[in-house]
Amino acid sequence: MSHQSLVLTNFNQFEVRERSLAELTGDNAIVRILATAICGSDIHGSNGSTGRRFPDQVMGHETCGVVEKVSAQASAELIGKRVVINPVISCQQCELCLAGKEYVCRSRKVLGVTKGVDGAFAQYVIVPVRNLALISEEVSPILATAVEPLAVGYHAVIRADVRPNERVLILGGGPIGQAIGLACARIGVSNVLFSEPSESKRKFISKFGFESVSPKELQSIYETSAKPSVVFDAVGSAHSFGDAFKHSDVAARIVLVGMDTPDLAIPSYEVSADERSILGSYCYTNEEFADTANWLGSNHKLVEPFISDVTPMSKAPEMFEKLHDGNFDYNRVVISQDE
Ligand SMILES: [Zn+2]
Ligand SMILES: [Zn+2]
Repeated sequence: MSHQSLVLTNFNQFEVRERSLAELTGDNAIVRILATAICGSDIHGSNGSTGRRFPDQVMGHETCGVVEKVSAQASAELIGKRVVINPVISCQQCELCLAGKEYVCRSRKVLGVTKGVDGAFAQYVIVPVRNLALISEEVSPILATAVEPLAVGYHAVIRADVRPNERVLILGGGPIGQAIGLACARIGVSNVLFSEPSESKRKFISKFGFESVSPKELQSIYETSAKPSVVFDAVGSAHSFGDAFKHSDVAARIVLVGMDTPDLAIPSYEVSADERSILGSYCYTNEEFADTANWLGSNHKLVEPFISDVTPMSKAPEMFEKLHDGNFDYNRVVISQDE
């Protein structure tokens, strides 16, 4: 069977092409894609700058579709159901998978990210049945693509074991920062402040009802009010990571989620003498992903500002150009399979 796919033919070059779909084997399903969001990692990867995307790749890992077909071993009840896809495909056999840390499985593959695993900027994808999560049809397929980043935010909040009465600072107001803020709201944390240098991003943050300031203002704010006990660094740059130490309380947890810079310096006495903890957070468990799909089903109004733009797949090459040139004011762009 062949289908239309958006192929990254070379760095910065896209083309919609016919591509053959692999055979349906094992415990897999074919999902007909309805909508797939463009992640920041797709934007930064497709120009070759991060080394995390490759020519001849079909990207796309934040997606919603309908189950078209399942292999003989899987339950036919799923056919026709609307689903979102956990893009992290793990081995389910190693000690990490067995310990519930499947998202760091050493042999994991990520849909639309790992070389050779065609993603969801396409009419169809093949994924293991266990990676499918049901999503309410009350959530539009466009908004349902938000489950993946929302699950990233939820996992980060669970990693830090945030309690409802804590003070939270989120560094970086892009979609992952927003997802962390929404996860705080989800578990009942109300004392949340964002630090974000871009005024246009601060405008998107305010649409969710969150408070945000420019990083320059943090100093004066924490001269008169208590510093946060949990800081999420949703950027991961030298600047943001420095702010995480400067503007956190003694014994705070600092959660590193953003991946801007591969090597960061640590102010060691602020870790040793003040007992701050640094936690890494990556992806989510299959259960957190499914729970997030379920949560979105009854909270879609709250999440609506997440998606700012929609484009059909035929216009996606032009959209990537716009996203790369840097003058386009957007929050999240979704590629729809509706032409
Ligand atoms: Zn992503
Ligand atoms: Zn594994």
